[in-house]
Amino acid sequence: MKNLFDPSVDSLDGIPAEGGDYAAWEDRLVDEEKKEEDSELEIGLRPRHLADYIGQEKIKENLSIYIDAARKRGEPLDHVLLYGPPGLGKTTLSGIIANELGVNIRVTSGPAIEKQGDLAALLTNLSENDVLFIDEIHRLPRPVEEILYPAMEDYSLDIIIGKGPAARSIRLPLAKFTLIGATTRAGQLTTPLRDRFGVLFKLELYTTEELTTIVLRSARILGVEIDEDGAREIASRSRGTPRIANRFLKRVRDFAQIKGDGVVTREIARYALGALEVDELGLDNVDRRMLETIIRAYDGGPVGLETLAATVGEESITLEDVYEPYLMQIGFLNRTPRGRVATRLAYEHLNLPYRTEVKYGGTDRQMRLFDGLPEDQN
Ligand code: ADP
Repeated sequence: MKNLFDPSVDSLDGIPAEGGDYAAWEDRLVDEEKKEEDSELEIGLRPRHLADYIGQEKIKENLSIYIDAARKRGEPLDHVLLYGPPGLGKTTLSGIIANELGVNIRVTSGPAIEKQGDLAALLTNLSENDVLFIDEIHRLPRPVEEILYPAMEDYSLDIIIGKGPAARSIRLPLAKFTLIGATTRAGQLTTPLRDRFGVLFKLELYTTEELTTIVLRSARILGVEIDEDGAREIASRSRGTPRIANRFLKRVRDFAQIKGDGVVTREIARYALGALEVDELGLDNVDRRMLETIIRAYDGGPVGLETLAATVGEESITLEDVYEPYLMQIGFLNRTPRGRVATRLAYEHLNLPYRTEVKYGGTDRQMRLFDGLPEDQN
């Protein structure tokens, strides 16, 4: 990289000078988990075209129009914000957008960009119409976020050179680019940042049908022999999440090789996922512990998220981002202003007697008013 900046300049420190270890520095800016999935990219598990991206029909429909229009005008696509639980295909979709636009993509994440200089270097390295993908954008440090505003709005970089009375601000022009931000929690984005995105897409959990198609596609790419029922069994236990479906497929394949004749059937899938302690609905130990805690320790709720997390022994953010969306989707959990409540379906699934009626003489919608439970909510 051409070092555009004087490395002694304060606000830009951290960037290696010309001839420095640029690769190592750049490496730090790329998310660990994504690096792991890079191997997947090589074998093509991540779709590269919009047409291969399964589900999220509404998003695809709109996106293909925006992409076509941007291409025809020879302009960058408007900045895009993708939000939804992890593993639903936000990173994949960003790669597809860049691919369909015929431009390069740079991938980084909010917590990896520690200093303004990190972001400045990424931005100045972009070519015309390129895509910059920032995962977990809600975790960008505030000073970094601030230099993103003029970059998104005017394609320019405001930097301060020098210190004290000699300090002066200069404005550098940037290539026109598209920022794609991904977040599991759109609510945590600051308003100025959210307002600068022209396109907002919420990714939904996938249906079993869609996941079955994804499993069959992945099996084809991985060279795994699988029948339709086997794929459906994996899909129905994948909590609406393609990343989980692909992970289960790989594990079930191992069982098929060792315990069967290599073919993934419904029986093998059931056996393997049972061994992984994933039940028919895809609930794992943490889901079950969570529901059992609400039911046994808090009489079915409501219980505040922080209290629940402490009792279950997980981070509240993990419960909220990873576990709750699916439990709510299948109707096992309600979020109320006073906390989390387990529904009758959850009791039934766990084979626990549904006691709310006895205690409160009503339905599970009825709230207790004087239970003195903590009111923490998110
Ligand atoms: P996120 O960025 O939302 O956490 P990713 O884009 O990393 O999710 O997706 C996780 C995995 O799921 C990827 O490896 C990809 O292969 C697969 N995947 C996600 N969405 C789809 C989809 N719509 N069709 C096919 N595969 C998908």
